[in-house]
Amino acid sequence: MIKKILVANRGEIAVRIMRSCRELGLISVGVFSEADRKAMHVRYADEAYYIGSAPSRESYLNMESILEVAKHSGADAIHPGYGFLSENAKFSERCKEEGIIFIGPSSHSISTMGDKITARQTMTKAGVPVVPGTTEKIMEEFRAEEIVKGIGLPVMIKASAGGGGKGMRLVKHMDELIPSFRTAKSEAMNAFGDDSVYIEKYIESPHHIEFQILADRYGKVIHLFERECSIQRRHQKVIEETPSPLMTPELREEMGKCAVAAAKAADYEGAGTIEFIVNDNLEFYFLEMNTRLQVEHPVTERVVGVDLVKEQINIANGLPLELNQEDLHQNGHAIQCRIYAEDPDHNFMPQPGLVTHITVPLGLGVRYDGYVYEGYEIPMYYDPLISKLISWGKSRQESIARMRRALYEYKITGVKTNIKFLERIMDIPDFIDGKYNTHFIETNSDKLFQPKFCGTECEDMALIACFIDYIDKIGKIQPPKFTDDLASTWKDFGRKRSILRL
Ligand code: ADP
Repeated sequence: MIKKILVANRGEIAVRIMRSCRELGLISVGVFSEADRKAMHVRYADEAYYIGSAPSRESYLNMESILEVAKHSGADAIHPGYGFLSENAKFSERCKEEGIIFIGPSSHSISTMGDKITARQTMTKAGVPVVPGTTEKIMEEFRAEEIVKGIGLPVMIKASAGGGGKGMRLVKHMDELIPSFRTAKSEAMNAFGDDSVYIEKYIESPHHIEFQILADRYGKVIHLFERECSIQRRHQKVIEETPSPLMTPELREEMGKCAVAAAKAADYEGAGTIEFIVNDNLEFYFLEMNTRLQVEHPVTERVVGVDLVKEQINIANGLPLELNQEDLHQNGHAIQCRIYAEDPDHNFMPQPGLVTHITVPLGLGVRYDGYVYEGYEIPMYYDPLISKLISWGKSRQESIARMRRALYEYKITGVKTNIKFLERIMDIPDFIDGKYNTHFIETNSDKLFQPKFCGTECEDMALIACFIDYIDKIGKIQPPKFTDDLASTWKDFGRKRSILRL
């Protein structure tokens, strides 16, 4: 049985995994780069080891350095979190070779599902609907033209090794096809060292809905319902919620069955996510599988009442899944906002730097998964995600109201964040009514990117100006002189205030 887990990650997810380790009485081992010596996960871990310089490829992507620490520290398992080495088939294999448990699927499942073309072929065989398009890679430009003439515009060109929206191009007009084909290929080569691309139909009014699954090594697979992830910017998720406002009980049943079939077809073991694209007619298509824990996993944990990291550890220990599909229910509604150190009004430019103050929201129905603290300097080398704020309510409306309250309480100074931007989303009628698709941010850009110093921001500025003026006056006013040296400073302060009011 696993006793000591090395967490091969950083930031909020490393802390989140270590929290479950602590609850299970397991020892956690942290690893850190030069830029992360003072990071929260290093402080939280039971032990922590240096693995290399700041750039990820020299530290968090350095397999051999991480494996060396695992052996040296006596860790019997490695949890990769998300990003970095989490979907690296070679790393899963290397762990196995070194006799260390990789908390995730086999290298075979990772390669099957990590390569989008192979995944499309596997799903087609398993009877899971995939987005109409090719199931082989397209190398020649004339072939790309033939295919697009066949399936019709608009189309998406996608990198087979793709992820994070890289190597993906939307083509609406025929004259954009060849330039987009070339850029998608070269972007894929730069990002993944593989320029294989394929073409699929662009689904109009798309909704991104995914299913969380858990699979043990004895062939039992269950799903933990859906997550709605259609609030996106540049094809990347910003807000996630469960249940999906679009979902019907029949559709949930049907998609859940397909998600389980998809995991079985990949011989899957562990926690994973089957992503689907759904149109307005509620027709759904397999998009891809993520063979790891997702950033948005907490909304599922909150509504289904399951600790996904503990389930991952149990599965890695070879234990059979104790959860049964018929016992699982969705209780209430949860929303997650991703909080980034970035400037939404300047093209979401990342904002590394010193956090001079932070007030974290608390209270009923609020979960906060973060890692920055006052005095911490957010490094420039990694993803600018600084925390995830999760609200829960009996109903969707209560969950929205709670998220609005939590965002209001959340204060960070020193670096710019997207908190205000998220607050504005909570007030947009289409979001409140649950009537949105992946075009939401684009469609509502006039309300989301307000000119500076108007609305509530103007009020905030006025209040700050009054406060500065008040502090300034208080400093200048001489309190009355008293002969009694023992006069209370409280009284003294009160007298200053009464003078000011006059
Ligand atoms: P990546 O792995 O790079 O994140 P995905 O295939 O998961 O790429 O797609 C990311 C997002 O791009 C989806 O959530 C969706 O918003 C959009 N998208 C992808 N494929 C299509 C499609 N065929 N039609 C419409 N939108 C799509």
